[in-house]
Amino acid sequence: MDAGKEYQANLMNMCASGNHDYTKKYGICGIICAIVLFPCGLICLFTDVEKRCVRCGAKS
Ligand SMILES: [Zn+2]
Repeated sequence: MDAGKEYQANLMNMCASGNHDYTKKYGICGIICAIVLFPCGLICLFTDVEKRCVRCGAKS
């Protein structure tokens, strides 16, 4: 079996068992609010954040 394919399969198995690798992504609205309404806008920045799995794209 191809080592690369096996590696991919292992990662997908981790996702399938609910062990996702989440990354944070800030929304553009949150970033703009944070700059315009600093420092209160920082609340918007942390509210407008999306967590997504880097492997399968599933949202948390
Ligand atoms: Zn995943």
